[in-house]
Amino acid sequence: MHNDLSAQEAVREIPSIDLVINDSRIAAAASEHGRDAVAGCARIAVEHLRTRVIDGNLKADRTSLLSSAVAEVLEILYRADFKMVQHVINATGVVIHTNLGRAPLSAAAAEASARAGRNYVNVELDIATGGRGKRGHYAEELLCELTGAESAAIVNNCAAAAFLVLAVHAAGGEVIISRGELVEIGGDFRVPDVLARSGAHLREVGTTNRTKTADYERAIGDQTKMLLRVHPSNYKIIGFTESPANRQLAEIANTNGLIFYEDAGSGALVDLSAYGLQDEPLIRRSIEDGAHIVTFSGDKLLGGPQAGLIVGDKELIETIRRHPLYRALRAGKMVYAALGETLRAYHRGTHFEEIPVLRMLAAGSAELQQRADDFVRILGDRLQSGSHLMVNRITGSSAIGGGSAPGVQPEAALIALTSDVLHADEIKHRLRCNKPPIVARIEDDAVLIDLRTVTRDEEDSLAEAVFRLVDSSGSVERNRA
Ligand SMILES: *Cc1c(COP(=O)(O)O)cnc(C)c1O
Repeated sequence: MHNDLSAQEAVREIPSIDLVINDSRIAAAASEHGRDAVAGCARIAVEHLRTRVIDGNLKADRTSLLSSAVAEVLEILYRADFKMVQHVINATGVVIHTNLGRAPLSAAAAEASARAGRNYVNVELDIATGGRGKRGHYAEELLCELTGAESAAIVNNCAAAAFLVLAVHAAGGEVIISRGELVEIGGDFRVPDVLARSGAHLREVGTTNRTKTADYERAIGDQTKMLLRVHPSNYKIIGFTESPANRQLAEIANTNGLIFYEDAGSGALVDLSAYGLQDEPLIRRSIEDGAHIVTFSGDKLLGGPQAGLIVGDKELIETIRRHPLYRALRAGKMVYAALGETLRAYHRGTHFEEIPVLRMLAAGSAELQQRADDFVRILGDRLQSGSHLMVNRITGSSAIGGGSAPGVQPEAALIALTSDVLHADEIKHRLRCNKPPIVARIEDDAVLIDLRTVTRDEEDSLAEAVFRLVDSSGSVERNRA
């Protein structure tokens, strides 16, 4: 302690900014973040020290003041790192987590995307002829094969796809939609707003819970261009409900020379009813049932990159492709590469082994229980008896998420973390500030870890982070919170 230092002497002990910048403990951060960023942080850290010393709140020698400044610089840079898009361990059990980037790619898709990113690619080159190739041709061909559609087009996301379809095929005319399908998806995609912006006029029919074929038929007039069906992805109306089958809507559209367009949202390329997902539209079936255009997301149940997939009748899709808006909404080369590999897995029939979203959905409760038990045992062996952290396996449920399959909650084996000295909020916070960050949820004052959405590769760092919540003596670590 240096309580005997005079105020003036204390101020003289404050390190210079240069001294902080040139400290060897900062060298690695300086090469990662750049000297300017480090200098900015050093200025802030030294200013903080000065204020505290002058206010008499801090008296220390030069060495420890320098250490404080260095620690603060590293802390500021560490927090700045949080803003980078980075690997996060999803321990929430929500398979398609929109805040966490939805679908993680398959290994093949991720590699294809990285390769496309690093190199020049044939995105608009026909290798066989040397002429100009069609963008996204390969992925589109696979989409046609997998859905039975005549033609396909790929844009940035499903919101863009829906907007494009409406703008190209319904602008200036009327679109008939059931009141039960005027939904909001993900907080910023409201079907009525998208319709209005596309220049189409909305004609609502039926009621929230019941719409009949006659409701659609009665609403058809001179201005009508389209019947729109929107899959109410993120909620479900149960009880006294009615809505026409796709076949019936297709028939009405055909009789009246209208387009029948279905925005399937998540949609599925394969039947997932064995996993409780019987309400998700199967794209192939929508096409078979006569939908002229169907749109769906690349990064929901399909398990690929963010993309909006448009499939349907050749002529209608070609009109979309020729529209200037298609050029504005088109996807990039990395998306085509990742999507191509993702679709190839379906084509090969290896989708359940390769595509993370499908693997996670299909994970059985016995498998998850085994993993959770092993995890608890490994941690239990490391945590000393009398530790302030309790780790238990409990049963509960996961969720599909991403505006898919509301109400479907697959059975899950969960790991519950509780502590007599740390609040659940504090545990959750510390896990989130881990490197890599870990996102978990709280239920009944326990932090719950659901391994369904955690890969085997991530288990070690997850266990390490949980173990580090308490130090080796069994008491709670007090650092970086
Ligand atoms: C999710 C969803 C969208 C939006 O899809 P993005 O790919 O997120 O743009 C549109 N319509 C429906 C029915 C959806 O479920």
